[in-house]
Amino acid sequence: MLRSAERVVVLTGAGISAESGIPTFRGPGGLWRKYRPEDLATPLAFSRDPGLVWQWYDWRRQRIAQASPNPGHVAIRRIEEMSPRFTLVTQNVDGLHQAAGSQRVIELHGNIWRVRCTLENTLAELRDVPLPEVPPHCQSCGHLLRPDVVWFGEPVPTDALERASRAASRADVMLVVGTSAAVYPAASMPVLTKRADGRLIEVNPDETPLTPVADIRLHGRAGAILPSVVAAMERLPQPPR
Ligand code: NAD
Repeated sequence: MLRSAERVVVLTGAGISAESGIPTFRGPGGLWRKYRPEDLATPLAFSRDPGLVWQWYDWRRQRIAQASPNPGHVAIRRIEEMSPRFTLVTQNVDGLHQAAGSQRVIELHGNIWRVRCTLENTLAELRDVPLPEVPPHCQSCGHLLRPDVVWFGEPVPTDALERASRAASRADVMLVVGTSAAVYPAASMPVLTKRADGRLIEVNPDETPLTPVADIRLHGRAGAILPSVVAAMERLPQPPR
Protein backbone atom coordinates (compact mmCIF):
# COMPACT_ATOMS: atom_id res chain seq x y z
CA MET A 1 0.00 0.00 0.00
CA LEU A 2 2.75 2.43 0.99
CA ARG A 3 4.96 1.48 -1.93
CA SER A 4 2.32 2.21 -4.55
CA ALA A 5 0.95 5.36 -2.89
CA GLU A 6 1.58 8.70 -4.54
CA ARG A 7 0.86 10.76 -1.44
CA VAL A 8 1.86 9.49 1.96
CA VAL A 9 1.23 11.18 5.30
CA VAL A 10 2.67 9.94 8.57
CA LEU A 11 1.05 11.18 11.79
CA THR A 12 3.04 10.63 14.98
CA GLY A 13 2.45 11.09 18.69
CA ALA A 14 4.46 10.62 21.86
CA GLY A 15 4.63 6.82 21.32
CA ILE A 16 7.20 7.15 18.51
CA SER A 17 9.65 8.71 21.00
CA ALA A 18 8.91 6.33 23.88
CA GLU A 19 11.69 3.96 22.74
CA SER A 20 14.11 6.92 22.81
CA GLY A 21 13.43 7.13 26.56
CA ILE A 22 10.98 10.07 26.43
CA PRO A 23 7.90 9.15 28.44
CA THR A 24 4.44 9.63 26.95
CA PHE A 25 2.06 11.65 29.10
CA ARG A 26 -0.25 8.78 29.88
CA GLY A 27 2.21 5.90 29.96
CA PRO A 28 4.68 4.86 32.70
CA GLY A 29 7.07 7.67 33.71
CA GLY A 30 4.62 10.34 32.56
CA LEU A 31 4.22 11.76 36.04
CA TRP A 32 6.73 14.31 37.34
CA ARG A 33 6.76 14.68 41.11
CA LYS A 34 3.07 14.43 41.92
CA TYR A 35 1.77 16.35 38.94
CA ARG A 36 -0.16 15.19 35.92
CA PRO A 37 0.95 16.76 32.61
CA GLU A 38 -2.64 17.88 32.02
CA ASP A 39 -2.27 20.10 35.11
CA LEU A 40 1.06 21.62 34.05
CA ALA A 41 0.76 22.06 30.28
CA THR A 42 -1.96 24.68 30.53
CA PRO A 43 -2.12 28.49 30.35
CA LEU A 44 -3.75 28.53 33.79
CA ALA A 45 -0.91 26.56 35.41
CA PHE A 46 1.60 28.93 33.82
CA SER A 47 -0.17 32.07 35.02
CA ARG A 48 -0.45 30.62 38.54
CA ASP A 49 3.10 29.37 38.87
CA PRO A 50 5.45 29.90 35.91
CA GLY A 51 8.41 28.69 37.97
CA LEU A 52 6.79 25.30 38.56
CA VAL A 53 5.83 24.88 34.91
CA TRP A 54 9.34 25.83 33.81
CA GLN A 55 10.89 23.39 36.31
CA TRP A 56 8.87 20.65 34.60
CA TYR A 57 9.95 21.83 31.15
CA ASP A 58 13.58 22.02 32.32
CA TRP A 59 13.30 18.38 33.42
CA ARG A 60 11.70 17.35 30.13
CA ARG A 61 14.30 19.28 28.11
CA GLN A 62 17.07 17.48 30.00
CA ARG A 63 15.56 14.08 29.20
CA ILE A 64 15.08 15.01 25.55
CA ALA A 65 18.63 16.40 25.29
CA GLN A 66 19.95 12.97 26.25
CA ALA A 67 17.75 11.14 23.75
CA SER A 68 18.52 10.13 20.17
CA PRO A 69 16.23 9.07 17.34
CA ASN A 70 15.29 5.38 17.52
CA PRO A 71 14.78 2.90 14.65
CA GLY A 72 11.15 4.07 14.33
CA HIS A 73 12.22 7.67 13.57
CA VAL A 74 14.84 6.40 11.12
CA ALA A 75 12.30 4.17 9.35
CA ILE A 76 9.95 7.16 8.89
CA ARG A 77 12.79 9.07 7.25
CA ARG A 78 13.30 6.10 4.89
CA ILE A 79 9.58 6.07 4.02
CA GLU A 80 9.90 9.78 3.14
CA GLU A 81 12.83 8.99 0.84
CA MET A 82 10.79 6.31 -0.94
CA SER A 83 7.57 8.33 -1.31
CA PRO A 84 6.91 10.68 -4.25
CA ARG A 85 4.94 13.11 -2.06
CA PHE A 86 5.37 12.91 1.65
CA THR A 87 4.33 14.88 4.74
CA LEU A 88 5.09 14.07 8.34
CA VAL A 89 2.66 15.58 10.83
CA THR A 90 3.86 15.27 14.41
CA GLN A 91 2.33 16.13 17.75
CA ASN A 92 5.74 15.81 19.35
CA VAL A 93 7.77 18.75 20.51
CA ASP A 94 11.09 16.93 20.89
CA GLY A 95 12.64 17.52 17.44
CA LEU A 96 13.71 13.87 17.10
CA HIS A 97 12.20 13.47 13.61
CA GLN A 98 14.37 16.28 12.32
CA ALA A 99 17.34 14.76 14.15
CA ALA A 100 16.66 11.51 12.25
CA GLY A 101 16.80 13.42 8.95
CA SER A 102 13.07 13.86 8.18
CA GLN A 103 12.62 16.86 5.89
CA ARG A 104 8.95 17.66 5.44
CA VAL A 105 7.83 17.94 9.06
CA ILE A 106 4.80 19.85 10.31
CA GLU A 107 4.92 20.38 14.07
CA LEU A 108 1.33 20.73 15.28
CA HIS A 109 2.24 21.37 18.90
CA GLY A 110 5.39 23.47 18.57
CA ASN A 111 8.92 22.70 19.68
CA ILE A 112 10.36 22.46 23.18
CA TRP A 113 13.63 24.11 22.10
CA ARG A 114 11.87 27.33 21.10
CA VAL A 115 10.67 30.02 23.51
CA ARG A 116 8.24 32.86 23.08
CA CYS A 117 8.21 36.23 24.88
CA THR A 118 4.94 36.58 26.76
CA LEU A 119 4.91 40.34 26.05
CA GLU A 120 6.28 40.72 22.52
CA ASN A 121 5.45 37.24 21.16
CA THR A 122 8.94 37.08 19.63
CA LEU A 123 10.40 33.63 19.10
CA ALA A 124 13.91 32.47 19.92
CA GLU A 125 15.81 29.23 20.18
CA LEU A 126 16.89 28.33 23.71
CA ARG A 127 18.95 25.16 23.92
CA ASP A 128 20.65 25.50 27.32
CA VAL A 129 20.13 22.49 29.59
CA PRO A 130 19.64 22.86 32.44
CA LEU A 131 18.26 26.38 32.10
CA PRO A 132 20.53 29.01 33.64
CA GLU A 133 17.46 30.80 35.03
CA VAL A 134 14.07 29.27 36.00
CA PRO A 135 11.76 30.75 34.85
CA PRO A 136 13.71 32.35 31.99
CA HIS A 137 13.17 35.97 30.90
CA CYS A 138 13.31 37.73 27.54
CA GLN A 139 16.75 39.18 26.81
CA SER A 140 15.33 42.26 25.10
CA CYS A 141 12.38 43.29 27.30
CA GLY A 142 12.83 41.30 30.52
CA HIS A 143 9.35 39.74 30.48
CA LEU A 144 8.69 36.08 31.13
CA LEU A 145 9.42 33.58 28.38
CA ARG A 146 7.20 30.57 27.78
CA PRO A 147 7.91 27.39 25.84
CA ASP A 148 6.71 27.72 22.24
CA VAL A 149 4.47 24.69 22.56
CA VAL A 150 0.71 24.29 22.35
CA TRP A 151 -0.80 23.74 25.77
CA PHE A 152 -4.07 21.99 26.56
CA GLY A 153 -6.89 24.37 25.71
CA GLU A 154 -4.81 26.43 23.25
CA PRO A 155 -5.36 26.47 19.50
CA VAL A 156 -2.94 24.78 17.11
CA PRO A 157 -1.12 27.40 14.96
CA THR A 158 -3.33 28.10 11.93
CA ASP A 159 -0.63 27.64 9.33
CA ALA A 160 0.48 24.25 10.66
CA LEU A 161 -3.12 23.09 10.97
CA GLU A 162 -4.00 24.14 7.43
CA ARG A 163 -0.97 22.50 5.89
CA ALA A 164 -1.54 19.30 7.87
CA SER A 165 -5.25 19.18 7.02
CA ARG A 166 -4.54 19.72 3.33
CA ALA A 167 -1.98 16.91 3.29
CA ALA A 168 -4.29 14.59 5.25
CA SER A 169 -7.25 15.15 2.96
CA ARG A 170 -5.13 14.37 -0.12
CA ALA A 171 -3.27 11.36 1.26
CA ASP A 172 -3.56 7.98 -0.46
CA VAL A 173 -2.24 6.41 2.72
CA MET A 174 -1.86 7.71 6.24
CA LEU A 175 0.39 5.87 8.66
CA VAL A 176 -0.57 6.71 12.25
CA VAL A 177 2.14 5.91 14.78
CA GLY A 178 2.17 6.11 18.57
CA THR A 179 -0.76 8.38 19.18
CA SER A 180 -3.72 7.73 21.44
CA ALA A 181 -5.84 9.76 18.99
CA ALA A 182 -7.33 11.58 21.96
CA VAL A 183 -5.94 15.07 21.38
CA TYR A 184 -7.75 17.26 18.83
CA PRO A 185 -7.35 18.54 16.17
CA ALA A 186 -4.50 16.04 15.55
CA ALA A 187 -6.96 13.17 15.98
CA SER A 188 -9.13 14.53 13.18
CA MET A 189 -6.34 14.11 10.57
CA PRO A 190 -7.01 10.38 9.98
CA VAL A 191 -10.71 11.20 9.61
CA LEU A 192 -9.88 13.62 6.79
CA THR A 193 -7.91 10.91 5.01
CA LYS A 194 -10.70 8.33 5.38
CA ARG A 195 -13.31 10.79 4.14
CA ALA A 196 -11.28 11.32 1.00
CA ASP A 197 -11.06 7.55 0.42
CA GLY A 198 -7.50 7.21 1.64
CA ARG A 199 -6.28 4.21 3.61
CA LEU A 200 -5.21 4.14 7.24
CA ILE A 201 -2.47 2.05 8.78
CA GLU A 202 -2.11 2.18 12.55
CA VAL A 203 1.00 1.23 14.52
CA ASN A 204 0.39 1.05 18.26
CA PRO A 205 0.70 -1.57 21.01
CA ASP A 206 -2.72 -0.48 22.31
CA GLU A 207 -6.19 -0.01 20.92
CA THR A 208 -7.23 3.57 20.16
CA PRO A 209 -10.46 5.16 18.93
CA LEU A 210 -8.93 4.86 15.44
CA THR A 211 -8.39 1.13 15.59
CA PRO A 212 -11.88 0.16 14.35
CA VAL A 213 -11.56 2.33 11.23
CA ALA A 214 -7.94 1.45 10.40
CA ASP A 215 -7.54 -0.58 7.20
CA ILE A 216 -4.44 -2.23 8.61
CA ARG A 217 -3.52 -2.48 12.23
CA LEU A 218 0.05 -3.32 13.25
CA HIS A 219 0.00 -4.15 16.88
CA GLY A 220 3.33 -3.48 18.63
CA ARG A 221 6.20 -1.08 19.14
CA ALA A 222 7.08 1.40 16.43
CA GLY A 223 10.80 0.67 16.78
CA ALA A 224 10.20 -2.99 15.93
CA ILE A 225 7.42 -2.69 13.36
CA LEU A 226 8.48 0.28 11.22
CA PRO A 227 11.92 -1.09 10.28
CA SER A 228 10.23 -4.27 8.99
CA VAL A 229 7.71 -2.18 7.04
CA VAL A 230 10.66 -0.37 5.43
CA ALA A 231 12.46 -3.65 4.71
CA ALA A 232 9.31 -4.97 2.98
CA MET A 233 9.00 -1.74 0.97
CA GLU A 234 12.64 -2.00 -0.10
CA ARG A 235 12.09 -5.54 -1.41
CA LEU A 236 9.32 -4.34 -3.73
CA PRO A 237 10.22 -2.80 -7.07
CA GLN A 238 9.65 0.91 -7.47
CA PRO A 239 6.20 1.26 -9.08
CA PRO A 240 6.05 3.02 -12.48
CA ARG A 241 5.00 6.69 -12.17
P1 NAD B 1 -0.40 10.30 22.87
O1 NAD B 1 -1.77 10.75 23.15
O2 NAD B 1 0.20 10.62 21.58
O3 NAD B 1 -0.33 8.69 23.27
C1 NAD B 1 0.81 7.88 23.20
C2 NAD B 1 0.45 6.64 22.39
O4 NAD B 1 1.65 5.96 22.04
C3 NAD B 1 -0.44 5.64 23.12
O5 NAD B 1 -1.53 5.28 22.28
C4 NAD B 1 0.47 4.43 23.33
O6 NAD B 1 -0.23 3.19 23.23
C5 NAD B 1 1.42 4.57 22.16
N1 NAD B 1 2.75 3.97 22.34
C6 NAD B 1 3.45 3.83 23.49
N2 NAD B 1 4.65 3.26 23.21
C7 NAD B 1 4.68 3.04 21.89
C8 NAD B 1 5.66 2.48 21.02
N3 NAD B 1 6.84 2.03 21.48
N4 NAD B 1 5.40 2.40 19.69
C9 NAD B 1 4.19 2.84 19.20
N5 NAD B 1 3.23 3.38 19.99
C10 NAD B 1 3.48 3.48 21.32
O7 NAD B 1 0.59 10.91 23.81
P2 NAD B 1 0.38 11.42 25.24
O8 NAD B 1 1.57 10.91 25.93
O9 NAD B 1 -0.95 11.07 25.76
O10 NAD B 1 0.53 13.02 24.99
C11 NAD B 1 -0.45 13.95 24.58
C12 NAD B 1 0.24 15.19 23.93
O11 NAD B 1 1.53 15.49 24.48
C13 NAD B 1 0.55 14.97 22.46
O12 NAD B 1 0.61 16.20 21.83
C14 NAD B 1 1.94 14.40 22.54
O13 NAD B 1 2.58 14.32 21.33
C15 NAD B 1 2.57 15.35 23.54
N6 NAD B 1 3.80 14.74 24.08
C16 NAD B 1 4.93 14.84 23.32
C17 NAD B 1 6.07 14.20 23.72
C18 NAD B 1 7.28 14.31 22.84
O14 NAD B 1 7.48 15.32 22.17
N7 NAD B 1 8.11 13.27 22.80
C19 NAD B 1 6.10 13.45 24.91
C20 NAD B 1 4.92 13.39 25.67
C21 NAD B 1 3.77 14.02 25.24
